[in-house]
Amino acid sequence: MLADLHCHSLKSDGQLTPSDLVDRAAEKGVTMLALTDHDTLNGIDEARQQAIKHQMEIISGIEFSSVWNGVGIHIVGLGFDESHPVMQAAVKRQEECRYERAVTIAQKLEKQGIEGIWEKAVEIANGAQIGRPHFAQALIEMEKVSNMAQAFKKYLGAGKAGDVKTLWPEMSEVVGWIRDSGGVAVIAHPDKYKMTVTKLKLLFKAFKDAGGNSIEVTTGGMDASFSKRMAQLCEEFDFMGSQGSDFHGPRPWSELGKFVPMAKTVKPVWSHWQ
Ligand code: AMP
Ligand code: MN
Ligand code: MN
Ligand code: MN
Repeated sequence: MLADLHCHSLKSDGQLTPSDLVDRAAEKGVTMLALTDHDTLNGIDEARQQAIKHQMEIISGIEFSSVWNGVGIHIVGLGFDESHPVMQAAVKRQEECRYERAVTIAQKLEKQGIEGIWEKAVEIANGAQIGRPHFAQALIEMEKVSNMAQAFKKYLGAGKAGDVKTLWPEMSEVVGWIRDSGGVAVIAHPDKYKMTVTKLKLLFKAFKDAGGNSIEVTTGGMDASFSKRMAQLCEEFDFMGSQGSDFHGPRPWSELGKFVPMAKTVKPVWSHWQ
């Protein structure tokens, strides 16, 4: 059994269709998959249809954007009722939020002299949930930067003009949406927030108080010692452990099903719905 509970299709900022992603996951030995596109459920039906061919189990999934203490925090929802009115309203709210944010990002970049960025980014998103990676791609195609990393470093990363996160809901609200619709709320990639362990524990405490019940103990790119630390914190906070690649496409992203193994002492999140 191999679970990958965090990945993206081109319904958000991934590169593959949900069907191609499911085929690739099967090739990599994944037997349980959650497609967790940013703030949208649009890819799940297609993934579920394709998974029948491979006898792969699909768990409903989403990666919500939120803020806690002024920091952007990603919360993965797993195993919820997709048709629950709270979830439906949440997705609609986030879609609107993403669109408004994209307009603001474009205005800010236009002010920096990058004319036509809005039209280009919209064209690249091609109907997907629009996000910073689409702006990054636009900047590359407009020859303002030469690669993704540079686009984030110069224009879109923390503290730069395109880093607009004030519109996202509070983390506690997002956790509420997931729990109300019957799901497990998971803190995504805790290694990505560049927090000290002390700060991370404050985050975990606030998350638990809000009803959060799981963290990603291992993700693509997380190193073994950090993962071990997360396994210990699962015990301390009585969290279930989740795992996922955070795959966005073939190269330079982490591959589907690839991450250091989760410590055996951790109660896996899938025990919740098995
Ligand atoms: P957004 O959800 O629109 O705020 O965009 C965040 C997404 O941008 C993440 O989920 C990653 O896929 C991508 N991303 C963030 N930082 C970088 C980076 N330094 N280089 C490339 N992609 C990044
Ligand atoms: Mn992404
Ligand atoms: Mn994320
Ligand atoms: Mn992700």
